[in-house]
Amino acid sequence: MKLIIMGPPGTGKGTHATHLQNKYGLQIIGTGNILRQEVEKKTELGEKIKATMDAGHLVDDAIVIEVVKKRIKLIKSYILDGFPRNTEQALALKNFLKERGEHLDTVIYIETSEQELTERLSGRLVCNKCGRVYQIRTMPPQMTGVCDTCKQSLTHREDDAPEVIKKRIETYREQTEPLLEFYRDEDILKTVNGNQDPESVFADIIGVLEQI
Ligand code: AMP
Repeated sequence: MKLIIMGPPGTGKGTHATHLQNKYGLQIIGTGNILRQEVEKKTELGEKIKATMDAGHLVDDAIVIEVVKKRIKLIKSYILDGFPRNTEQALALKNFLKERGEHLDTVIYIETSEQELTERLSGRLVCNKCGRVYQIRTMPPQMTGVCDTCKQSLTHREDDAPEVIKKRIETYREQTEPLLEFYRDEDILKTVNGNQDPESVFADIIGVLEQI
């Protein structure tokens, strides 16, 4: 199965992708995480990527498309989290799959209101060691500020600062939201209500997948 999980920043794509990985054994290809790993390596490319991410802009299409192609070549069942993010990326993905005689099964769109997104992103905490994500209100850690899994201190992502959040949501509206129409035309878009608690959102996602 080949899925895309789509929605504005803060909608919980990464968390739901992890649950889907556990439930169905799908591999996650999360471009945000892949790019953050490159930043961690402190290479010249990593420094360039960091500046773009910290400003809330999209990283160069050529870089991201190459990274995704390299990974999807090797696996049959996956969830794309954070990709594609604009029309150029969506077309590159479509053509690449077509060349290989493959296609996407479903695009799950988690529709979430702006107020909910801002609240969630400003209360998001991450573990820099294992990558686990928490949310102060909806998914808090057992001990304040400490990762349940590896007991490391939790931090805020640098791009979760209020002014960057605003820019990221703006970038999403301008560049990524038009893809909803693209996938609606392909008849593979399924929408779930993201303004619910995470368990209900996930139950709706499962409901969609059980139908295909
Ligand atoms: P995310 O973790 O998905 O919220 O992504 C964090 C940041 O990584 C974004 O704000 C972008 O700067 C960058 N990024 C992630 N995925 C992509 C993509 N498909 N295209 C361009 N930039 C991306």
